[in-house]
Amino acid sequence: MIESTNEENVTIQNIYRQLGISDQVYGFSQEILAQLRPRFDEIDKNAEYNQLKVLKAMQDNKVSEACLLGTTGYGYNDLGRETLEAVYASVFHTEDALVRPQITCGTHALALALISNLRPGDELLSPVGKPYDTLEEVIGIRPSKGSLAEYGISYRQVDLLANGDFDYNGIRAAVGEKTRLVTIQRSKGYQTRPTLSVKRIGELISFIKSINPDIICMVDNCYGEFVERIEPTDVGADMVVGSLIKNPGGGLAPIGGYIAGKKECVENAAYRLTSPGLGKEVGASLGILRDFYQGLFLAPTVTAGALKGAIFAANIYEKLGFQVVPNGTESRHDIIQAVTFGTAEGVIAFCKGIQAAAPIDSFVAPEPWDMPGYDAPVIMAAGAFVSGSSIELSADGPMKPPYAVYFQGGLTFDHARFGIMKTLQSVVDAGIVKI
Ligand SMILES: *Cc1c(COP(=O)(O)O)cnc(C)c1O
Repeated sequence: MIESTNEENVTIQNIYRQLGISDQVYGFSQEILAQLRPRFDEIDKNAEYNQLKVLKAMQDNKVSEACLLGTTGYGYNDLGRETLEAVYASVFHTEDALVRPQITCGTHALALALISNLRPGDELLSPVGKPYDTLEEVIGIRPSKGSLAEYGISYRQVDLLANGDFDYNGIRAAVGEKTRLVTIQRSKGYQTRPTLSVKRIGELISFIKSINPDIICMVDNCYGEFVERIEPTDVGADMVVGSLIKNPGGGLAPIGGYIAGKKECVENAAYRLTSPGLGKEVGASLGILRDFYQGLFLAPTVTAGALKGAIFAANIYEKLGFQVVPNGTESRHDIIQAVTFGTAEGVIAFCKGIQAAAPIDSFVAPEPWDMPGYDAPVIMAAGAFVSGSSIELSADGPMKPPYAVYFQGGLTFDHARFGIMKTLQSVVDAGIVKI
């Protein structure tokens, strides 16, 4: 008699075989996974904490069945929208929040937060190096219509030191009379620098406030939500900004962005999003609120699954000798995993593996192409229920040195794990590594 556990194992390996995973790749993956159990337990504990935090915010704000319905037209007195914004404010421990389907993406949310809180003659400072690629046009680092630069808002940047520390002397020298707003990107984005922990963000904010307490500290929170138990607004940030097709949408939000923070910051953003005088009072939610609520409710566990996937990927590729950021053992502050292949072929093979693992469009092969907002061709792999959603299993990388691929997401850990196994299979099949 075969023991039932063995029988189960054989069956699982079999289904992997049917999905194109060789026994070699399966075995290699199992070995890596076996070592990761204690870390996964830690992640589950954070998810438990954050699940209860979200639940409490929903209960405290008396989310009712009526909140799940939507409004049309102007959207006056939209109970569900107003309650959802109160729930976000509770989750982030802020005075107010703006959570809207009319905010089309993360870049839009960030652009909105910036342009509504800055005035001509003000200066924006990034003390953590170059911001996310799409913000270059928002700021006017690369000239663009409607940029902050066109409105007479200047920009300064202080890079991180070579060891990843903040350049406190440089920052002190860069803060001047005109400095009105500081933007801090939590996640590494398309860079290989480390992601900032919430604690470090807090230290940076304290330093900036010690120079001038009136400076608005904004955090680009994309990919960071629910990875830790605290958020940047718990350590002094005046505003956090993010996308609903990343962590806080839980994979269910089909569009949207949020800005949570000080009442005045959120009010400024609302007056800019809709119109001076109208602000938060308008903006019909149509039929979207159920997905926003349900997505937020699921976000802590979805984020945890994505985080486990990222750690699994780090450990696989680190073992194979590639540079991975974060590395296999360090603590995590966002869901992105960077793997530096050093060659276009490596990045492409990885992305093909992710695509082949998708529930949607698994039969197509991704190719690098020019995308608006990016300065080099980008290859993107995703077969998502929500187009472009990067809380779903996805990978992308710009076709430029150091040829790093950025991997993130997975609505369930089981899917993330399979996706990574597919990348390994693809990289092995392309002859890029031997296992
Ligand atoms: C994704 C992301 C953005 C931009 O969001 P989009 O929804 O792609 O416009 C900005 N900053 C960071 C750190 C991001 O990860």
